[in-house]
Parts: sequence; structure tokens; C-alpha cells
Amino acid sequence: MSHAPAAPALVPTHCPYCSLQCGMNLRGSGTPATTVEVVARDDFPVNRGALCGKGRTAPAVLSSRVRLTGPLVRRPATGRLEPATWEEALRATAEGLRRTREVHGADAVGVFGGGGLTNEKAYALGKFARVVLGTSQIDYNGRFCMSSAAAAHQRAFGLDRGLPFPLEDIPRTGCVILVGSNLAETMPPALRYLTELKENGGSLVVVDPRRTRTAEQADLHLAPRPGTDLALALGLLHLVVAQGRTDEAFIRDRTTGWEEARAAAMAHWPELVERITGVPVPQLRAAAGLFCDAPAAMVLTARGPEQQSKGTDTVGAWINLALATGNAGRPLAGYGCLTGQGNGQGGREHGQKADQLPGYRKLDDPAARAHVAGVWGVDPDALPGPGRSAYELLDALGRDVQALLLMGSNPVVSAPRAAHVEERLRSLGFLAVADVVLSETAELADVVFPVTQWAEETGTTTNLEGRVLLRRRALGPPEGVRSDLEVLHGLAGLLGHEKGFPADPEEVFGELRRASAGGAADYSGISYRRLEEEQGVFWPCPEAPEQHPGTPRLFLERFATADGRARFVPVVHRAAAEETDAEFPVVLTTGRVVAQYQSGAQTRRVPELNAAAPGPFVELHPRLAARLGVADGQPVAVVSRRGRAVAPARVTDTIRPDTVFMPFHWPGAGRANTLTNPALDPTSRMPEFKVCAVRLEPAAG
Ligand code: SF4
Repeated sequence: MSHAPAAPALVPTHCPYCSLQCGMNLRGSGTPATTVEVVARDDFPVNRGALCGKGRTAPAVLSSRVRLTGPLVRRPATGRLEPATWEEALRATAEGLRRTREVHGADAVGVFGGGGLTNEKAYALGKFARVVLGTSQIDYNGRFCMSSAAAAHQRAFGLDRGLPFPLEDIPRTGCVILVGSNLAETMPPALRYLTELKENGGSLVVVDPRRTRTAEQADLHLAPRPGTDLALALGLLHLVVAQGRTDEAFIRDRTTGWEEARAAAMAHWPELVERITGVPVPQLRAAAGLFCDAPAAMVLTARGPEQQSKGTDTVGAWINLALATGNAGRPLAGYGCLTGQGNGQGGREHGQKADQLPGYRKLDDPAARAHVAGVWGVDPDALPGPGRSAYELLDALGRDVQALLLMGSNPVVSAPRAAHVEERLRSLGFLAVADVVLSETAELADVVFPVTQWAEETGTTTNLEGRVLLRRRALGPPEGVRSDLEVLHGLAGLLGHEKGFPADPEEVFGELRRASAGGAADYSGISYRRLEEEQGVFWPCPEAPEQHPGTPRLFLERFATADGRARFVPVVHRAAAEETDAEFPVVLTTGRVVAQYQSGAQTRRVPELNAAAPGPFVELHPRLAARLGVADGQPVAVVSRRGRAVAPARVTDTIRPDTVFMPFHWPGAGRANTLTNPALDPTSRMPEFKVCAVRLEPAAG
């Protein structure tokens, strides 16, 4: 009889990175775990057994040598971050926040969150800011991700859920126009949905200034100048109207505002749109034909059209196209946004956004304030009002905002005009950062809290479909590490709020459910038990006598507006905030590569990923390279009105000759966000990451 110890069980959980939230099983051995086995979950319908390299290697960060395993406090004597006890780190932070509040007022204390934080953490952080600190100054890095799509969704449909239908619907529609998404690199398992669409006889149109790996799959690739996709959508709508291919019954019965939107589109005739976008009229006609010939069609957008100073209107123009052709509010059709960060959807629903309360309620709505204040046990009048958006908050550091608590974000790399943001962070009176590694932002902090990672803690996320998922704890954390919820629990206690900030995620989720009840993103019918048993539950899912099944498909009967109708919004083309000129004659656009994730704080610490994508590069067309006298691999300097970045040239004919591309995952000399423009969309407050004017110069090797 064998007495060998039983192998540790496989624990079903989800990837820590992108919004697909692929299902995986984890098995750890050792205490703390030194070996972690990852097995993709065939049973999870989103990734169906597939994982990308980031997901497969995610455990490497758990056991990374550079992982933080104890708090750090900056010592006045040395000016350096040095090891400290948890009690010392918590007391120093509570004191830093309290002192700032007493001297400068509550709004001099800021809080900055992240779209990777679980729903429980996002909820607790918003509550901590408003109840414990009494500050209005909270926002998060998701503002830089999908805020334009969220604003356009709200404006047109009265509700924002990234995809109002499950991913499984995509292969069964007739045509997809994919705008500004390179999902072959950002979420590779999702490419399968597009290849299945084509196998089923559907067509794929990709809109992207670069012939990406995703665009290679398309039946038709349109490559507009960056920042002109609003005009492109208007040109398509013009053709649809001119060819009599609008869905008049749908427009009449289910929408408002068509005449104004139609008039705006008719001012954008195809030849004008060709001049603005660089896309030839025959290609415009072909795209309109594929879209209108399909019995049902979808438009999907990502950061390309969204990260612009007119991102809300650009997404609005694509929504108008979907509405005019009756491709919304019915099965296998619609508009959707492919959210980026792991909890990009949930992160914007529970109150870490400057203008929102849990349940996707508006902070300036008296009924919403009364409901949430009731759950929190506070006076509604004591809740602060809306605060600044992410970039505006970062820009106010060291001026109106003197202390900052930051969780789950690395703005030194990921914010626009990053050198300026870094300078503002350095000018703070007090900065506390919670992270798993000493990120470039944590390096500037007065206190650093080492926190648990995805596999070491339980919590929920909400993926790009609005599917709420349970990420289960599979391993014990290293000694000396605590969860973000424990950090907030400890700080709240020291600041006089012993109750109301539990460290147990299920307890937090229970309160989140009550706070969300009756709101747009209603989680009240979702429990950890249900999430254990089901493959996620789609919100809204209200508590009901008969268990509510959740809502995979929205708007089939009515839209979420007051009159139940979708709203056309008249939008017109306008130029990017910064146009090319003699001094800065080239357009810079930024994005991601498959082996890195966001600011790279985690993935740059994974040897396999680092080997695959070791540093930044400047992608440029051979004609532009020849004009500059730059050879492939040679260092090239990219200069904008905000600064200079240097990286090796990558010469390729897959990009427009008037455009260069840089990925944004790295700090230092090749930091792409040193160059980007913080011009903000007036509605969503999204910065213009995707378009700015630059010049290129050969650089010393
Ligand atoms: Fe993780 Fe996204 Fe890769 Fe899936 S696609 S394994 S969620 S990074």
C-alpha cells in the first residue's frame, strides 16, 4: 500500500491579464508554491482550451526573484526605500493621508486604482476614498482604456456593457467590421471567433492603419490615417443611405434622432472621406456592400477609435452605422467594445471612477447617493461629488492634490505625456503604492505595500462580455505579503473606521451585491456559490424569487434609455488635436505586442516573454526609412512636442508610409508615452494616445 502524498488538486481559476479572462486550472506544490502547473480549461466557453503565452507563463511572476515580499518605507536618513514592518508601513500611510487632509483639506488626498483590480477591490477602494478619506479625487487607469466606448454606449443605448452579446454569437453573424483592434496579439484565443466566422461563410472587414496579424485574416482591410476613422464611419453611412440600404422599420420603431444623424453623414460624401482617410472610394463601397449584404452584422471597436480626443464621437459614428442598418437590439447583431484590461468591465462598475457609485450609478444622482449611502451607513450629504478624471488627477499631483494612494497601476509607463506625469508624482508630499513588484511608479513612493497576486487570493472579475467570474485562490501567498483588501482594512482601522472594510472578499462581494441592487450593473442575484457552479453569470442579474439566469444578450426587447429607444447622435469629422506640420511631419500611433501586457510591470519580469519581446521598437515603412536614411535595426529618435524616445527601427511595408508605430510597454529611453498627447475627449476624458505628430531622426547607437 502506497503512502505517497496525494498530488495537490487542480484549482479552476482565470488568467490575471486581459479581458478575455481565459479559464485555466492551477496546481501548486511547495509552501509557498515553488512549482505551479497551468492547464487550460477546455470546459470554459470563452477560451475553450486555448491560452496565449502570457497566460501560460503567468505563474512565473508568483515566484519571481524580484517580487516584493515585505513592505518598504522611505527613510529620511538615506532617502531610500528600506524594509519595514506591516505595522510601520500602515501607520506611515495613515499618518501621511491624515496629515495631508488636516493641512490641505480632504480633496488634497487622491486615490488611483486600476482596471486589473477585482470587483471587490474596486468597490472597497471607491468606498474607502469617499467614506474614510472623504475625497472626491479618485479615478483609475481604465479611464485610459475604454472610457470613450463606455460614454458612447451610455449615450446611444442608455447602458454600457462592452459586448451586449456573448462571444459565441460572433461566428454566427454574417459580417464583422473590426475597428482598431489587433486581437491576434492582444487576446490571441479570441481570433478563433473570427476564423470561425469566415468558415461559416461570414466576412471580416478590419480597419487599422497597420496590416496587423489580425488584418491579415480579413476579407477586406481598410488602412485609414490614424485619427480619421470617424470620417470613415460617416462615409460608410453616407453610402448606405445613398444606396437605400437603411432599415427604415428599425429606425422608426426602435430609435430616435435619425434625421440629424443622417444629415451629418450626408455631408461626408465618399470622395471627401477618401481625401480625409486615404481609403479609396472602391474600398469604402466594398466595405459597405459586405456589411449590408449580411443578414446580420456586428461592429466591434477597441482602442484604435477610442483612444482619441474625439473617441466618444468616433465610437458614436460606428454605432450610428449599426443602428441605421438595423444591426442592434436583435440576435447575432450589434455594436460591441473589446475591453482591454482583465477587469476593465467590472473595474468601471463599482465606484472607482471619478463620477460613479457602485451599480454603475451616477455620483450626482440624488437617488443613487441615497441608496449607496444607505448600504454604507453614512449620510448621503456627506458623500463627496464627482472628482477629476485620471489624467487631470495625475496632472494635479503636487499642486491641488498632495497625497496619493495608488493600487494596481503604473502610470509612469502607461500615462500619456509620461515624463510630465512622472514629474508630478515626484512632486507629491506623500505617495503610497500597493503592487506585486517594485514598478517604476512604486520606485517613487514613500511607502510600498507588497500585495498578493491573482492565484493567491479569491475574488471576482467581469470579462468583456459582462460575464462575472470567480477567480479562485489556488496557492498560499509568501509570508510578508497581504491582499489589497487587507491594506484597506488596516488603513481604515487606523483612520477611525474599524467597521465596514472587511478583508474577506466574499464578505465584500455580499455588500457589493446590495450596493448594486437596482442599478444598471445589478449583481444582487450573483453569489460565490453560483459562480462556483456556473461558468460565470452575465449581469444584470437581480435577486429574484426564482433564480434569475443572468442576461447574456441585452436590448432584444428595448434599449436601456427612458423611452426604450436607441439614440442616434449626429457627429461630424474633426481633426486630431495635433496635426502634422513641417516640424512634426509624421503621425505616431501606439499599441501592444503579444508577449507583453500593458505597462509590462508583470510581463517584463517573465523570462520567456522578455526573450520574445525584449524592448521597444519603431515600426516604419521602407519609403520613410529610406527618406531618413535609417536601416532596419538602427536606433531612431522619435520626437514630439512633449519629449523624445529612442528605439531600434523595424522597417516593414505593413504600415502606412505617413505613420510610425511604437508599443508602449517599456520605461526608459524608449518609453512611447513620453511622446503621446494628453488632449482629452470632452465627454469621456480619454487622452489621445493613438494620434500625435512627431519627427524622426537617426540616433546614435
Ligand atoms: Fe490571459 Fe488574455 Fe492570454 Fe487569455 S488571451 S491567456 S486572458 S492574456
